[in-house]
Amino acid sequence: MSTTVEIFDTTLRDGLQVEGVSATVEDKLRIAEQLDHLGVQYIEGGWPGANPKDIEFFARAATELHLTTSTFVAFGSTRRPRGKVDEDQTLQHLLDANTRAVCIVAKSSDYHVTEALKTTLDEGAAMIADSVEFLTGNGRQVLVDMEHFFDGFKDNPEFSFRALEAAVLKGATHVVLCDTNGGSLPHEVEEIVTRVNAHVGNDVIIGIHCHDDTGCAVANSMAAVRGGARHVQGTLNGLGERTGNANLTTIIPNLQLKQDFICLPEGRLERLTVVSHRVAETLNRAVNPQSPYVGSSAFAHKAGLHVSAIVRAKDAYEHVDPQLVGNDTRFVVSEMAGRATIQMKADDLGLEMDGAVINTVIDELKRLEHEGYHFEAADASLELLMRRATGWKQDYFEVESMRVITDEVSDTFNTEATVKVWIGEERFVFTAEGNGPVNAIDTALRRAVGRAYPHLENIHLTDYKVRILDGGEATGAVTRVLLSATDGIRDWTTIGVSSNIIEASWRALEESVVYGLLHAPVS
Ligand SMILES: [Zn+2]
Repeated sequence: MSTTVEIFDTTLRDGLQVEGVSATVEDKLRIAEQLDHLGVQYIEGGWPGANPKDIEFFARAATELHLTTSTFVAFGSTRRPRGKVDEDQTLQHLLDANTRAVCIVAKSSDYHVTEALKTTLDEGAAMIADSVEFLTGNGRQVLVDMEHFFDGFKDNPEFSFRALEAAVLKGATHVVLCDTNGGSLPHEVEEIVTRVNAHVGNDVIIGIHCHDDTGCAVANSMAAVRGGARHVQGTLNGLGERTGNANLTTIIPNLQLKQDFICLPEGRLERLTVVSHRVAETLNRAVNPQSPYVGSSAFAHKAGLHVSAIVRAKDAYEHVDPQLVGNDTRFVVSEMAGRATIQMKADDLGLEMDGAVINTVIDELKRLEHEGYHFEAADASLELLMRRATGWKQDYFEVESMRVITDEVSDTFNTEATVKVWIGEERFVFTAEGNGPVNAIDTALRRAVGRAYPHLENIHLTDYKVRILDGGEATGAVTRVLLSATDGIRDWTTIGVSSNIIEASWRALEESVVYGLLHAPVS
């Protein structure tokens, strides 16, 4: 019999603390929908009433979010020291949020009670007991986040136990042990959780909430589960302040695929990769390619000795089947690639290639990489190159000409691009302004081609990288442009190389559009 470990996602609160990320109310609603699609048990929405954005979010969530799997949770804190529960604003906001479950943060470290709250330990315990009693009395399921639990426990376990008991006796369903400063190590976490489990494990579900300051948040969460925790809090892609929170996209498959725990409803784990990428996209923060399970390199194999062996026995080189988490094996091809790698890549793409065509591809790769192309980083351009080698030619559009002009008029720079294309027998001419030449040619090309292919509307650029090769020649050097795009389902990268940065960008852009059209979903 498998045991269930509940997943509690705090991307919408802790996750949004990451520097450089800001989410609109609309973004938060979309993320909540994705989390429900994945099937986490709880989605924490943030602090109701904390600011106008959160007030709007909770109001809209109440009517617009139709969750089918997850329970929506409002977050708050215990009453103030020496305050009254029925006069406490935070507790009132929690009730007003009208969620079935609430999570409140409580001080469970004696140091924080006496130093941060400047009150007595008796009052510290009473704040927890009163608040839980008030909320359960109002019909809410109550989870209590025990802030600074591990640090507090190391100093004064007696008070930490008292804090737990205060919550449990008043009917909290969960006590969540937080490594708030993120400084704990797995062996400490396992030992402390084991002691807590022996003490209150029969009366309450023990949760774990880790931050990644020692790089151990995933390991600490798993150690807690070994110690008896059955509820894990974290964020998608490990987003969070400082070094981030425990990464649920790693923890979930670790528990479910390696340890036989059940974290998500049946059939949901294979949504992990796409949900991870959609949430990253919504927050405009790309998934680290090396992220376990969901990264684009997680199951990528570079040409070399073991490539032909992978063809024979994939599982000899992959720790799990990538399909289980919705990811895919990828063969990375570079000028070093031998025939076997190209053959595998061709099989992967469903292309028929005989020996002569494979030789053409290898020669072409060598020639282009010598010029400065780098196909490892540009899968989409590689695919187009291989298709062309088989005699394929894109017939979506034909470019007649492209022109881009930048001029300066009284200290303002203006850019305008004109693109002329043929689609079948029809000629399209479009002019667009942009905040720079690349933006202008991108807009003009899309407008011109988009007339015939409405799917282009769903495609947008996510990254534009320029690298100067052969830096010795300064502005005369060769420029490599890598351009990433997405249509919301698939991400791809194309490449252009030239001594002219506009030409390099244009090559990458044209290929990006062609690739997007080639893989447009059939409607
Ligand atoms: Zn936290």
